[in-house]
Amino acid sequence: MKRSTFRLAALTSTVAIAGVTLAACGDSSGGGDGMLAAIEAGDVTIGTKYDQPGLGLRNPDGSMSGLDVDVAEYVVNQIAEAKGWDAPNVTWRETPSAQRETLIQNGEVDLIAATYSINKGRSESVNFGGPYLVTHQALLVREDEADITDLESLDGKILCSVTGSTPAQKVKDALPGVQLQEYDTYSSCVEALRQGNIDAMTTDATILLGYSAQAPGQFKVIEMEKDGEPFTNEYYGVGLAKDDAEATDAINEALTKLHESGEFDKLLEKNLGGNEAVAPGKPGDLSFLD
Ligand code: GLU
Repeated sequence: MKRSTFRLAALTSTVAIAGVTLAACGDSSGGGDGMLAAIEAGDVTIGTKYDQPGLGLRNPDGSMSGLDVDVAEYVVNQIAEAKGWDAPNVTWRETPSAQRETLIQNGEVDLIAATYSINKGRSESVNFGGPYLVTHQALLVREDEADITDLESLDGKILCSVTGSTPAQKVKDALPGVQLQEYDTYSSCVEALRQGNIDAMTTDATILLGYSAQAPGQFKVIEMEKDGEPFTNEYYGVGLAKDDAEATDAINEALTKLHESGEFDKLLEKNLGGNEAVAPGKPGDLSFLD
C-alpha cells in the first residue's frame, strides 16, 4: 500500500544553538519559582525525551539533539532576549511519557518539550504553551510485515506502546481485541519489534519516522485512519506549571516568532527531513480541546 507508507527523507544530528550551554550537571531542583524566574536567574531545567531520534535524543557524547530540543532552546533564548536577560544555561532532564505532569508539578523541571500532546486531562494538572506542531498516531511494523496494513488489521495482534501516552489510551478504547503491551519507553518497543516479540508499535508518526530512518530497511511506518480521517490529531505543546499564565504567554509569543520567522521550517527540515506527517500548530489556539 504505497499511499499509506511514508518515510523520512533525512535524519541529521543537531548542534547546540549558540548561547545555550549544555550543563553536565546542575541544579536538580528545577523551577521552584516558575519558568520565567529560572530563565532570569540564568539556569533553566528542560524536560525532554532521551531516546527519540529526530525529536529528543541524548547522544553518546552527552550532547542533545532533535526538534523538541531545538524548539525548547529557541523558546528559552527568545524569552530571555525579549526580556533583556542573558541566554540561560540549560540543564536537561529525561521526562518519560508517564512522568511528565508529576515532574512539572514537583518543580523538577521548568518546562517540557517532549512529544507532549495537549489534552484535557493533562491540562487539569499543567499549563501548555503551543501547539507548535500537529501530527497523527501511526504504526511501525517490520519491513516484511504483510498482515498489518491498517487499524482494523491489528485485531488479535500484539501491539506495543508506552505507559501514560495518548496513543496507548486511544488504541485501548478503539480496539478492545488488540493485545497491548505497555513499556516505559518507545526505544524498548522498537527493540521488541526488532526481536519479533511484538507485531507492531504505535505512537505519533513523527516518533516512528525517526526510528525508521535510523534503521534503513528494517521497518515501515503505516498511517492509521478511521472513516477516512487520521485516527488522532496530536497537538504538541510545551508543558509548564499549572496556572502560570505569564510564562504561558511568553512561550506562545516565542513560538509565534519561531513560526513566523521561518525558523520552525528550518528546524523541521534539519531534524525530521521536513516530512509530511507534520504540520505547524497555531500557538495559543487551544480550540481543538472544545
Ligand atoms: N504525543 C503522545 C503523548 O504525548 C505520544 C508521544 C509520547 O508518549 O511522548 O502521549
